[in-house]
Amino acid sequence: MNKKTSILSFAALIAGILFYQAGPPRPSVSGLRDAVADSALDGLRSAGPQNKAGHAPIPLPVAQSVSQPGSGPVYKADPAFDAAVPADIKQQLLQDLGFAGTITSKKVSALHNSIFGLVSGQAYTKYFEDRVKSVGMSGCGSALAVACVIPFKSNTKMWLTQNYIKFSHPQIARIMLVFHESRHTEAKNGNWRHANCPDPFTDANGQDVHSIWTGASLVGESGACDITPYGSYGSSLIMLKNIQKFCANCTEKVQMDAGMYADDQLNRIVDAKAKKAIQADLYNK
Ligand SMILES: [Zn+2]
Repeated sequence: MNKKTSILSFAALIAGILFYQAGPPRPSVSGLRDAVADSALDGLRSAGPQNKAGHAPIPLPVAQSVSQPGSGPVYKADPAFDAAVPADIKQQLLQDLGFAGTITSKKVSALHNSIFGLVSGQAYTKYFEDRVKSVGMSGCGSALAVACVIPFKSNTKMWLTQNYIKFSHPQIARIMLVFHESRHTEAKNGNWRHANCPDPFTDANGQDVHSIWTGASLVGESGACDITPYGSYGSSLIMLKNIQKFCANCTEKVQMDAGMYADDQLNRIVDAKAKKAIQADLYNK
């Protein structure tokens, strides 16, 4: 394999890359729907077979108890970090995972329950730890990448780029990306490779769909959409939509942000049946 070929193979095999674009710092009052124009994106560059809609969900044990806000145990994922991971990036990821580990709720949607279990820090921590054993640093094949999973190197490792701490999105959006990438570790599900976005590709208002992360058009974008509720886009939006609707100990801002990013990423579910399943689970009641 010559050098060019190996670079192309590398790019084709990265299962999930999250991109960002530097922008002005978001106002701390965010939550406004139009405040996201500055942002980052997930655009998957993988090629190859796509998952069929309706893939069986991963059965996960449901947590037995739900702690009360402010009183229950706090769960914290603790992956191994390569020595190359700078302290500030490690600290940021641990803070993000730590926040996810504090979430409590007494309600959960059926799809969320089938993918993650309850809306709880315990379930999220287990989900992450079951999939991601170590964290390293990589360029992830693009100067705009934030994180990736590289199946030909490892299906239990998440790679971060320097962009992880330059990310101008709220913490809950960063958590969405971490759980998006975690889903890509599932080799038994073909790493949940993405589908191509359609062309034309318009939202409910008839406007071309753009990335909430970079602002780039997603019309006809390859590997930037999903055709199942269970892939990386579907599962992470189901997580955030549940946090918006059911988190018992989140601030209003966290819930508003969670809803905003979930609603946006629903545009990326381009199979009618898959979208309907998510809407029936979380939007039509
Ligand atoms: Zn992805």
